[in-house]
Amino acid sequence: MLSGRLNPDLQAQADRTRSHFCGEKVIVRGLFEFSNYCARSCLYCGLRKDNPAVRRYRIEPREIFRLAGAAAGKGFETIVLQSGDDLYYSRPAICALIKKIKDKYPDLALTLSIGERPRDDYRAFRESGADRYLLKHETINPELYRRLHPGQSLKNRLRILDYLRKIGYQVGPGSIIGLPGQTISDLADDILFFQSFQPDMIGIGPFIPQKDTPLKDHPSPPLGLILNFIALARLVTQNSHIPATTALATLGKEAGEIAALKAGANVIMVNLTPHAYQKDYLIYDNKARIGLKQARAAIKDAGRKISLARGDSLKSG
Ligand code: SAH
Repeated sequence: MLSGRLNPDLQAQADRTRSHFCGEKVIVRGLFEFSNYCARSCLYCGLRKDNPAVRRYRIEPREIFRLAGAAAGKGFETIVLQSGDDLYYSRPAICALIKKIKDKYPDLALTLSIGERPRDDYRAFRESGADRYLLKHETINPELYRRLHPGQSLKNRLRILDYLRKIGYQVGPGSIIGLPGQTISDLADDILFFQSFQPDMIGIGPFIPQKDTPLKDHPSPPLGLILNFIALARLVTQNSHIPATTALATLGKEAGEIAALKAGANVIMVNLTPHAYQKDYLIYDNKARIGLKQARAAIKDAGRKISLARGDSLKSG
């Protein structure tokens, strides 16, 4: 079933499941990529510390606060703060930022996507008011995981996900589809992982080569494979929030996003990173820039309605 060929029956069934459990609204969340510094060397990622070709930037917490306020002013009820694994932002600095945002905008849901940190940081961020944490497990094959992530282990990644959930975050693991050496059987295991973990949110995207990384010559997978994967993830989780990701839009242009919305996805993340920085957050090449305008168009074309609502987890605890 997980072939590159589109499977219309599978997609239609996933679309019905999405409609039944998530409704017709596509939830739009605002994403800020606030730093492209990274302490890690993931083989696929353009932000890896061993890539000297990146122009590095950091947005200071004071400026992040201002940007969050602007997003809230536009009606966004969720903002996602993402970065490389950048320990320049200390625990107290991030806690202070979270508190400042949540004090001023108590109804805003705050999602962190800042990678692996000491355990106590996760707890402190949660106690400061962070609501959700995105941490893709990338691949559930431990050997493949080890090859792609020098110095990291799948076991630790999964432990962190369990811990995040235990201390009350809504949690979002996720997979990259089309990694070198990844098999259909690996992808099936990813789906089974979603079935047992029942994530609040799931990030699914194709591998896309980045020219300054060791995997620069490895091709992206066919769009059909990702759409089938999204559909299966929808079928086994029923009500998890599944975005039509930027990577998909990059691969399939607007058609990729629309197709994902029709294959089980119910969320879009729009990029609110200031333009001056967006071009330097190059996790992969030719990264699409999904703004509110593009999101609106894709949602309309998919025959759905836009919502800026918080879109909290639909899982019942
Ligand atoms: N440092 C954070 C955020 C990383 S960027 C963390 O580790 O969680 C967010 C996601 O970009 C990663 O989880 C990874 O799945 C994705 N990504 C990075 N490089 C990619 C590539 N070449 N192709 C597809 N996805 C990629």
